[in-house]
Amino acid sequence: MSQSYDLIVIGEGISGLTCAGHAARAGMRVATFESTLFGGLVINVNELDGYSEGGHNSGTDLASGLMQSNSDAGVKSIQEGVSAVRAGGAGFEVVSDSGRHEARGVVIASGARLKKLGVPGETEFEGRGVSSCADCDGPMFQNEDVVVVGGGDSALQEALVLAHYCRSVKLLHRGDAFRARKHLVEQASANTKVSVSWKTTVEAILGAKMVEKVRIRHAADGRTEEIACAGVFAYIGLEPNAGFAPAGIARDARGHLVTNESCETPIAGIWAIGAVRAGYSGLLRDAVPEARRVAEAVRDRLD
Ligand code: NAP
Repeated sequence: MSQSYDLIVIGEGISGLTCAGHAARAGMRVATFESTLFGGLVINVNELDGYSEGGHNSGTDLASGLMQSNSDAGVKSIQEGVSAVRAGGAGFEVVSDSGRHEARGVVIASGARLKKLGVPGETEFEGRGVSSCADCDGPMFQNEDVVVVGGGDSALQEALVLAHYCRSVKLLHRGDAFRARKHLVEQASANTKVSVSWKTTVEAILGAKMVEKVRIRHAADGRTEEIACAGVFAYIGLEPNAGFAPAGIARDARGHLVTNESCETPIAGIWAIGAVRAGYSGLLRDAVPEARRVAEAVRDRLD
C-alpha cells in the first residue's frame, strides 16, 4: 500500500484541481491522479468564453495557476491512470499503475473526451489533416479550406478560432438548427468565412498523404457530395471517462455517473463532479463553484 490521504481526487481538469486545492487549504491531505496532461479539455482553449474569474484568459493559464496553487497548498499530483476504486483501508483504495493508495474520501473528476466520428479515414489521417485542437493546429491551415463537424458550443467556438487562419470554414451539421449558445451562433453567422451545410453527415475522410476531401451525405435526398478540404475538425460531443468507477454507481444512457444534486454517489464517501457527472452544464462558471461545494462537503463528512 502506498501513502494514505484524506481525499483522493481523480482527474486534474478544472473541476478536480479546484476541488483538490480547496480541500487542501481546508487542512486535508490530498492527492490528485491524472493519466494525461493536467487541465482537461480546456487546456486546448486559448480564449476562455464566459469565464473571467482570477483574470485567466486561456485554459492553459487557468490550469497552470491551479496546479501551482495546489502545489503550494501541499496537494500531491500523481501522474498515473486509475484503474479501480474499491472499499478498503480507511475507506477506499484507489488502484493506479504504481499500486494501491488509501483515502477516506474520493472525488471522481475524470471528465470526458471528445467523441470520434467513427468513419473511414479518421484514424488514418489523425495528425495529417484530422485534428481536434483548433487553437493548436489552426495555424497549420493558413489560407486553407477546412470543415468542422457538429452544431454545439464546441463546433461553433472552434469554427470561429479556425476562421482566424483559414480561407474558409464549412460547418457540417446533421441537424437543421444549432444547439450552441446564441452569441456563438450570431458570431458564426456574421463571419463571412464560415458557411453551413445543414442536415449532412460525414461518411468518409479521403486523401493520399494528407486529407484532401470529405464525402458527406445529405439527409434530405440521400445524395452524396465530396467537399475539398485540408482539415477536418469533429466536435460532436463528449464521452465520460468513467470506466474505472465502481459498478455500484449508476450510469445514464451516455455513460455519465449519476449523482444526487450534491454530487454524492450512492456510495457514501465518493462524489462525482464536472463532465463525468450526469447533468453537468458544461460551463466553467458552474463547475468551479460545484467543485468548491464538494470540497466543503468532503471536509464536513470527514471531520
Ligand atoms: P454537444 O453540446 O453535445 O453538441 C454535439 C453536437 O454534435 C450536436 O450538434 C450534435 O448534433 C452533433 N453530433 C453528435 N453526434 C454526432 C455524430 N455522430 N455525427 C454528427 N454530429 C453529431 O457537444 P459540445 O459542443 O462539445 O459541448 C459539450 C458541452 O461543453 C456542452 O455542455 C457545452 O455547452 C459545453 N461547452 C462550453 C463551452 C464554453 O463554456 N465556452 C465551450 C464548448 C463546449 P444534434 O444537435 O443534432 O444533436
